[in-house]
Amino acid sequence: MSATGSSRPQIGILAVQGAVSEHEAALADVGARTCRVRTADDIAGIDGLVIPGGESTTIGVVAGGSGLLAAVRERVDAGMPVLGTCAGMIMLADTVAGGGTQPLVGGMEIVVRRNAFGRQIHSFEADVDVPAVGAPPMRAIFIRAPWIEDVGPSVEVLASIAGHPVVARDATRIVAAFHPELTDDRRLHRLFVDGVRARAEGLQQEEDTVVGSQ
Ligand code: GLN
Repeated sequence: MSATGSSRPQIGILAVQGAVSEHEAALADVGARTCRVRTADDIAGIDGLVIPGGESTTIGVVAGGSGLLAAVRERVDAGMPVLGTCAGMIMLADTVAGGGTQPLVGGMEIVVRRNAFGRQIHSFEADVDVPAVGAPPMRAIFIRAPWIEDVGPSVEVLASIAGHPVVARDATRIVAAFHPELTDDRRLHRLFVDGVRARAEGLQQEEDTVVGSQ
């Protein structure tokens, strides 16, 4: 059952590969319920989705083959909020720069570059100023991270490092090049879950209006 209208929305975490349990803990901390999404059927009852980091090619091939990717695309295109971190950001992009063809959810007007900080730089940490979540800057862990090379008019850049956007959003999607689930700073998860709640309440009001007018 969907938790639409609930202050404890049900957030699915794409559990094909990658950092799932850390997102579960972060989402629980900000008052959401969670479930793991492995099949297209698991999509039906969720109010929002997290696509975690991992390896975007693996996530795309596995989820593409099972029909899960198409089911995610359908819900996200219909307005379901989604948070994509690292490989999850790549999965939501319309275009991967210099990339061949890898299966994506797509739909967000961003061009991303995989392993953009250099393949030799496996991981690093940086303080990233994200005004949308307030001060202080977020301590961000980047692991073979992408960055955003270009954005379309529907996209708002929320943070950059060295001139490269690393956090962005549009009407339904929030993406981060780093791993917010690996620190105990919950502000990005809170921003996402607040958006899910706002949408769920809007849908509930629409439903009440329809029922009320019958
Ligand atoms: N380099 C990975 C990719 O291209 C992303 C790494 C990550 O999610 N930590 O998919």
